[in-house]
Amino acid sequence: MKIAIYANDGRQSMAVSRKLYQKFADTHFIFDNDHPDIVVTVGGDGTLLSAFHKYAAIIDSVRFVSVHTGHLGFYTDWRDDEIDDLVISLQSDNGQSVSYPLLDIHVKYKGIAKAVNYLALNEATLKRSNATMVTDVYIGGEFFEKFRGDGLCVSTPTGSTAYNKSLGGAVIHPNLKVLQVTEISSINNRVFRTLSSPMIIAPSDWVTLVPSAGRDYSLTVDQQNYHGKQIEQLRFKISKKSIHFAKYRHMQFWRRVQDAFIGAEYEN
Ligand code: NAP
Ligand code: MN
Repeated sequence: MKIAIYANDGRQSMAVSRKLYQKFADTHFIFDNDHPDIVVTVGGDGTLLSAFHKYAAIIDSVRFVSVHTGHLGFYTDWRDDEIDDLVISLQSDNGQSVSYPLLDIHVKYKGIAKAVNYLALNEATLKRSNATMVTDVYIGGEFFEKFRGDGLCVSTPTGSTAYNKSLGGAVIHPNLKVLQVTEISSINNRVFRTLSSPMIIAPSDWVTLVPSAGRDYSLTVDQQNYHGKQIEQLRFKISKKSIHFAKYRHMQFWRRVQDAFIGAEYEN
């Protein structure tokens, strides 16, 4: 089994990744940063997001394992004092994995014939900085509404606990293959109208945005930001690809949500 370690540059993450290197070397794992079977990330959810983007081109042949060096995250399963158990689990690995949906983003820029595709693990947002964002919204190819406001967010189920949640979106169990659209400060009055509620989009559907002319839009894809080019059309769909995690033990999703957002003191 070929292993890559992907750590953030925090002091604790560096220390943990040094320990992991040593343990993997002692147990005769092969290191391969270019074509790993398993990527072990060390850090937080943000670290896993960066690792995902680094390996996006080979995402179907990679499985992730995540060690957290801060608080328990949504993608990070292992505490940094459990790496002995983690190495033992990897030694007896038999390919077990869980897979979660990804967001496919198809962008047509004005004046550029070839469309660009991006893949998001958490979400994509379209925002405008210098003026009200105005965009037509289509669902499944049918016109739905004209949106005016700061922006729109399209998130995956595993991304539903991130930006989406701050925007008042629902937390979605990651076994559901759906996308969620949330608004960022829509303008609603007697003249302008949007749905104003988060929408859950079925797996067979897609969301298209046709923004008004302007170069001051920014498209975010997880922690990346693309701007400066005029977007003619954006299409969001659940990707045919998914992200795979090596799963050696189970943690109930709602327990993780409770742990992250509510805390143990409310247990009776
Ligand atoms: P960051 O500023 O560190 O991320 C903000 C927070 O979101 C961090 O606490 C991060 O956890 C957490 N997070 C990331 N993915 C999550 C998930 N799937 N579920 C629950 N929490 C999650 O930046 P980053 O670490 O590079 O992460 C980028 C993400 O930040 C974006 O994809 C977006 O979802 C989120 N974001 C949120 C807001 C907002 O809520 N207003 C605004 C911009 C971006 P860690 O500390 O473990 O990294
Ligand atoms: Mn972060």
